[in-house]
Amino acid sequence: MEAFTVEVITVGNELLSGRVVNTNASWIAGRVTKLGGAVKRITTVSDDVEECSAAIREALARRPKLIITTGGLGPTFDDRTLESIALALGIPLELNEEALHMVREKYGGDVTPPRLKMAKLPRGGKPLYNPVGTAPGCLIEVGDTIIIALPGVPLEMEAMFEMHVEPIILRLSHVAYTSMLIRVDTIEESSLAPMIEEVMKKCKAVYVKSRPKRNGEAYIEVEVSSRALTMKEAEENVAEACRLLRELIAKAGAKAQEL
Ligand code: ATP
Ligand code: MG
Repeated sequence: MEAFTVEVITVGNELLSGRVVNTNASWIAGRVTKLGGAVKRITTVSDDVEECSAAIREALARRPKLIITTGGLGPTFDDRTLESIALALGIPLELNEEALHMVREKYGGDVTPPRLKMAKLPRGGKPLYNPVGTAPGCLIEVGDTIIIALPGVPLEMEAMFEMHVEPIILRLSHVAYTSMLIRVDTIEESSLAPMIEEVMKKCKAVYVKSRPKRNGEAYIEVEVSSRALTMKEAEENVAEACRLLRELIAKAGAKAQEL
C-alpha cells in the first residue's frame, strides 16, 4: 500500500522568532493524516528567498507526492514564496491572467502595484481561488510532485485546503485511515511499552503510540491507528488492536478506558 506522502513548508520570520505559534503546520498535518496521507516532514523557513527556495529544492529531491507551503503570498515586500518557488524550479515569475482576474474582482478593478504582485505566479502555475482573503494560491506540477502554495492567515489557509487540497488527496491517495485513543491509568510507560510492542507484532497494519499526559492528573494516552485500503478494514484493525491491548493492560492490573 503506497502512502500519499506530503511535506509541509511553513514560511515566516514570526514562526522562527516564536512570536506566532505554527498552528498551520499542526492543522495541515492533522488533516492530511485523517485523509490517509502521510506527512513526512515539516520545515519552517524565514521570509528569505534563498532559504525558502532551498527548502523547496530539498523537499522536491525527496520526491513527495505533495508539497504544501503556507505564508508569504500577500502584497507586501516580504511575501516572496512564489518567487522562491520560481527560483527553486528555475522558471520565471510572470503575470497570470486568471490570477489577475481574481485579484481584480476582489478590489473592484482597482489593481495597484502591490495588488498586481499577487497575480504573479511561477510560469505554468495555476491560480487557486481564495474564498476568504485576497491573494490567490498557486498549484504547480513538477514531475510526479504537486506543489501547492497557500496563504499564511489560518482561516484563509484552512478554507483553501478544504477547497483545493482535500479533493486532490482524496483522488490520489486510495488509503483509509482511522485512529482511537485509550487512556491508561496506574501503570508506568515503561511497563506499557512491551504490551504495545506485542500488539504491534500481532496486529500488522496498526501503529500504536503512547504519550504521557499531565492535565492535572498524570496518565498515559495511547493512540492506536491504522492505514488500510478500505475504512472498514482500518476500523477492524484498530478495534482488534484495542481489544488486545486492553486485555494485556487488564491482566497487568491497570485501568484502560476509551477516550
Ligand atoms: P497576507 O496576504 O495576509 O499577507 P500571507 O500569505 O502573506 O498573507 P503571511 O504574511 O506570511 O501570509 O502571514 C499572515 C499572518 O498569518 C501572519 O501575521 C501570522 O499571524 C499568520 N501565520 C502565518 N503563518 C502561520 C502559521 N504557520 N501558523 C499560524 N499562523 C500563521
Ligand atoms: Mg503577508
